[in-house]
Amino acid sequence: MGTLVWFRNDLRLRDNPALYHASKRGDVVAVFFICETQWRDHDVGDNRLGFLLDCLHPLERDLLKRGISLRIEHVGRFAGVPERIVRLARSLNLDRVAFNEEYPLNEKKRDSRVIRACKTAGVETDVYHSGTILPPGSVLTGNGDPYTVFTPFKRRWLSQVDSSALEPLGLPRRQGSQTAESSALPGSIDGVDRARVAKRFPGGEAEAQRRLRDFMQGPSRRYASDRDFPELDGTSALSAYLSVGAISPRQCLSAAVKANRGRIGDGDPGICTWISELIWRDFYRHVIAMFPHVSRGQAFRPEADRVAWRRSAKDLAAWQEGRTGYPLVDAGMRQLNETGWMHNRLRMITAMFLSKHLLLDWRLGERYFMNQLVDGDFAANNGGWQWSASTGTDAAPYFRIFNPSTQAKRFDPEGRFIRRWVPELEGAPARSLFNPGKHLTPGYQAPIVDHAIARQRALDAFKALKN
Ligand SMILES: Cc1cc2nc3c(=O)[nH]c(=O)nc-3n(C[C@H](O)[C@H](O)[C@H](O)COP(=O)(O)OP(=O)(O)OC[C@H]3O[C@@H](n4cnc5c(N)ncnc54)[C@H](O)[C@@H]3O)c2cc1C
Repeated sequence: MGTLVWFRNDLRLRDNPALYHASKRGDVVAVFFICETQWRDHDVGDNRLGFLLDCLHPLERDLLKRGISLRIEHVGRFAGVPERIVRLARSLNLDRVAFNEEYPLNEKKRDSRVIRACKTAGVETDVYHSGTILPPGSVLTGNGDPYTVFTPFKRRWLSQVDSSALEPLGLPRRQGSQTAESSALPGSIDGVDRARVAKRFPGGEAEAQRRLRDFMQGPSRRYASDRDFPELDGTSALSAYLSVGAISPRQCLSAAVKANRGRIGDGDPGICTWISELIWRDFYRHVIAMFPHVSRGQAFRPEADRVAWRRSAKDLAAWQEGRTGYPLVDAGMRQLNETGWMHNRLRMITAMFLSKHLLLDWRLGERYFMNQLVDGDFAANNGGWQWSASTGTDAAPYFRIFNPSTQAKRFDPEGRFIRRWVPELEGAPARSLFNPGKHLTPGYQAPIVDHAIARQRALDAFKALKN
């Protein structure tokens, strides 16, 4: 008798409720299912797969130190999980399965099927919460409805979170009753090996903790002013670790509150702004949990699915490859293509450029990002895309269209970031970076659309929804 702890996007030992509580009962075996066909259907790309694999190695090592074996099972699709999990629990003589909840629709359906299959087989299931700081469904308006606007959500969230009860759970209890064995971790997943992004994003819980510590000791204090400048290392670079759960949002919040002398909604402006980003992360997870239609590829606002998006494989390719002729857009896309990560300001600028200037369906961009990002995360990516395309919850109003040249002048005033990622512009004068239509640079793409004309086209397309 004992518990099978099913790891998913919670690849850590500390602050892992399913693992922690199971370890108290004793006789724990851990399992991770490799579902590469399903993940590819969800547009998970090579960078995230490589990162995931690189996180599994330290996870297994750390589990073994606590006397827990990690079993790796290949199932292809989620549909294969229920039968396999029951079979595994039975063969290991375990009477319980424990896991931490996930919120996207397919994951929720998979989990319901697992719970049903376990029940039929006489295996108990223990489901815990850890993917957000406050659980979806717990932050509601006075009428009991989910919030669709961030600011009141944040206000309510801050009034509900208890800053004195944020201490994360510790390590699981060491298991003594069995001889833990190492599994055969695969050398690659769907052809992707762990070295793919390991130089920039070494996998694992210890690395995530190191990043959090470093960020709290320095950049967090300057976050409010630095976070918008892509040339500065002004953000935590923790998103990949949060997305596979190598660190929990509660661990992040707890460290931030400690650094802020126990305060959560006021205090150091940098830390408060960072806490706000953690609340955005919760917000988008609450949105996908409470509004399942966004997991079905639909716009949050149904009328936004009537926008007459253009079709142009040529424009899409130019955007993907960083050849739009708008220097900051191209720099962002090239950063993404080369590193698997893109600065938040650039994610907004490039996403708006695709959905407004090119008037291409935001889902094409959402899919491309998911395929490239090491931190690809359905809730944050979908939320970010629907914000930029003005189709989502609390989205940018459709008439507020970023001018990519003004944005460049404001957030990369010396053009350092642009010149780093777009070598064609290395020796170009500032005027070509901030006014590319007027000052063409030999060897660099001329703008593929004119800002004013493209802006008007987007405004017309959105205005047409009102008729
Ligand atoms: C179009 C678009 C697509 C995006 N796709 C993703 C994605 O696939 N995965 C992802 O993790 N983030 C995504 N984001 C949000 C944000 O850009 C990244 O989380 C951030 O750039 C990661 O860098 P960081 O870890 O240094 O963040 P920090 O600035 O240090 O922020 C700390 C953490 O807060 C969370 N966070 C920050 N900003 C946001 C936000 N706007 N929405 C939700 N959570 C946020 C992240 O988990 C992040 O690691 C997207 C944003 C946009 C506009």
